[in-house]
Amino acid sequence: MDIKENISLKDYSTMRLGGQARWLAEAYEENDIPVLIEWAKHQNVPFMVIGSGSNIVWRDEGFSGLVIVNKILGKQILNEDEDSATIHIASGEIWDEVVGWTVEKSLSGIEFLSLIPGTTGAAPVQNIGAYGAELSNNLIEVGVYDDETNAFGSIIASQCGFGYRTSRFKKADKGRFIITSITIKLSKKSPIPPFYESLKNYLSEHKISELNSKVIRDAVMNIRSSKLPDPAEIANNGSFFTNPFIDQDQFDSLKQKYPEVKGWPTKDGRIKLAAAWLVEEAGFKGVHDDETGMSTWPTQALVLVNEHAKTTADLLSFKQKIVDKVQELFGLTLEQEPELLP
Ligand SMILES: Cc1cc2nc3c(=O)[nH]c(=O)nc-3n(C[C@H](O)[C@H](O)[C@H](O)COP(=O)(O)OP(=O)(O)OC[C@H]3O[C@@H](n4cnc5c(N)ncnc54)[C@H](O)[C@@H]3O)c2cc1C
Repeated sequence: MDIKENISLKDYSTMRLGGQARWLAEAYEENDIPVLIEWAKHQNVPFMVIGSGSNIVWRDEGFSGLVIVNKILGKQILNEDEDSATIHIASGEIWDEVVGWTVEKSLSGIEFLSLIPGTTGAAPVQNIGAYGAELSNNLIEVGVYDDETNAFGSIIASQCGFGYRTSRFKKADKGRFIITSITIKLSKKSPIPPFYESLKNYLSEHKISELNSKVIRDAVMNIRSSKLPDPAEIANNGSFFTNPFIDQDQFDSLKQKYPEVKGWPTKDGRIKLAAAWLVEEAGFKGVHDDETGMSTWPTQALVLVNEHAKTTADLLSFKQKIVDKVQELFGLTLEQEPELLP
């Protein structure tokens, strides 16, 4: 197996910052995973598995262990009936290509998650979500290699600890499971409203009333392309902060001070706020920060862009300016979405 030495991690994060990996190798099939882990253990160095690096910020110090880049490919329909199809996808498949493939087959369920960068294996890690949908809505099970038992296995969706942008793979069992595949169930019926506000507005503005998964995918792709920078061209990690959740009392007092603040009630009685609004209100929409070489995207303040930053320290210093200002104005602490590694 080709294990490279001293590789710049800038090429393994869409933010294009960070130090070097001491070792780096690509895994092309499931069985490469235990072989590479064994190699790292033999060298007495840590390992980690990544996909496309679209949700990773690497520290300037780099990583003294082995980075395993997931390239395991394959997808197939396991079974189908009149109403639905169950699909097995290897974890190295590019997520948006998978969405496109299911939409071509007139299947519905994940079209709302169109154009989210990255690999299929990373999707359960933060339970990717957009336009009111989450991967967990369609997920049946996750195929894994368990580093604790040194065995392949599977975990059913209800055991994955899914929540808003989280799962057991990100929290309690971080680093234990290498996701090798996912199994999802998709519908053969058309998507049914109500839809997320911006999607609903797009459909009505474009006078689209006949709904199917292709129409939704096209709408989501158009909305996203008009608002978000393409990480292949502009260095960014998408939304840099997650939406905060607060209790009703907190929301009421915030509303008194800022009548225009928007909040969405959640099932657990809390209120979800738009982190983008907080960042904008703190004066950070479309800001270019000469000191750090960082900026925020003009049409989506949550997206931090690396214009000419030299180090991850620059990025973190810019991030801190935003966090501090939001804290000062609203008394809320923004949480970073992309993971700072190692
Ligand atoms: C422009 C842009 C827009 C985005 N929009 C959204 C959005 O709308 N919704 C959303 O939820 N996210 C969004 N993201 C974030 C990102 O695309 C997702 O989190 C995506 O799933 C990351 O995939 P990746 O392959 O790049 O993972 P990476 O960034 O490589 O890894 C992310 C984490 O997952 C772990 N990991 C990766 N692969 C595996 C595996 N096989 N087994 C175990 N652990 C693994 C890594 O160790 C790391 O902890 C966006 C990012 C960008 C740049």
